[in-house]
Amino acid sequence: MIPFNKPFIIGKELAYIQDAVASGKLSGNGKYTQLAQAFFEEKYHIKKALLTSSCTDALEMAAILIGIEHGDEVIMPSYTFVSTANAFVLRGAKIVFADSRSDHPGVNEGRLKSLITERTKAIVPVHYAGVSCDMDMIMDVASAHNLFVIEDAAQAIESSYTSRNGKKLPLGSIGHLATFSFHETKNISSGEGGLLAINDEQFINRAEIIWEKGTNRASFFRGEINKYGWVDIGSSFLPSEITAAFLWAQLEHMQEIQHKRIQIWERYNTNFSSKLESFGIRTPTIPSYADNNAHMYYIIANDESQRDYVLKRMKEIGILAVFHYLGLHTSDFFVNYHDGRTLPWADLYSETVIRMPFYFELTIEQVDLICQALLDILIEYQN
Ligand SMILES: *Cc1c(COP(=O)(O)O)cnc(C)c1O
Repeated sequence: MIPFNKPFIIGKELAYIQDAVASGKLSGNGKYTQLAQAFFEEKYHIKKALLTSSCTDALEMAAILIGIEHGDEVIMPSYTFVSTANAFVLRGAKIVFADSRSDHPGVNEGRLKSLITERTKAIVPVHYAGVSCDMDMIMDVASAHNLFVIEDAAQAIESSYTSRNGKKLPLGSIGHLATFSFHETKNISSGEGGLLAINDEQFINRAEIIWEKGTNRASFFRGEINKYGWVDIGSSFLPSEITAAFLWAQLEHMQEIQHKRIQIWERYNTNFSSKLESFGIRTPTIPSYADNNAHMYYIIANDESQRDYVLKRMKEIGILAVFHYLGLHTSDFFVNYHDGRTLPWADLYSETVIRMPFYFELTIEQVDLICQALLDILIEYQN
């Protein structure tokens, strides 16, 4: 049986957790939290990083920070995870869903401008599969209309965007705010976990307060004030040191993890390139301005019935390939709020994307076996 995903231990995860226990401080914002935050700030040129219990939490913090009020509009792709939208819905926002690109499940940047109204407050691009959106285009449209940009970089650790002026910018360092995920299915994991990246300095002080239940405790612990109390709204968004210790061990070994993931990605791609076209199946497109962080290997089936057949037969032979998002504009929760625009590309990817098994411990031999099994199933389907 080959699962779709499998958590793994890369190094000192358990030793660091033991160390955290021995240190006598297990609640949040301790040594390992600070190590992880400094790592993001230094490596990705993020002004201030705050660890959270999930990317969902980081998105909720972002929605509070940009001051979303009832009726404010937020533009984002329909083809994304529930949390991208839910975080803003919780603050009363009206979500305006954008369609995906024809060549890639990411948002169609060229169409964003047509969705902006007087009430628009923010754009939330999602770097699908860790592949960058065209950020110059998004930042230009946002700055022309005074909008905030929050990058949903849940899948985008260690990926980058090459700007029009030739500068390579880490994803998560471009928008006013950005969010990462360390869920067990992401490249770097702590089971559940996330991070809020703050690139616009005006948000730093308030973010720390929201993070710590609406109190100025972070500032108190740095000795900047002599008592702390309730100063704003907030919640308990910070993870415990157990989570941070696990995460730090994975961050320390990120190069090794990424090296292996890229090998797996390349092997899928080499095995599939030229072989899938005759079945009407597409392999991933990576625009020239984007990097590949090997978050995911996906293929786009010819149609829903071919996709469903492949998933069913793969499962029967013990290989768990899976579908991905169902466009949020058609979801049970949102369908009655949606303005009725058709989003044909989001619909298409909802019906046709297949994600292949992808995890650190997957061997090259297993990748070859999976690819051969898929090709056999496609021939079977044709006949
Ligand atoms: C995984 C993911 C999330 C949610 O991350 P959690 O850490 O599980 O909250 C949000 N957006 C995208 C695009 C994701 O892939």
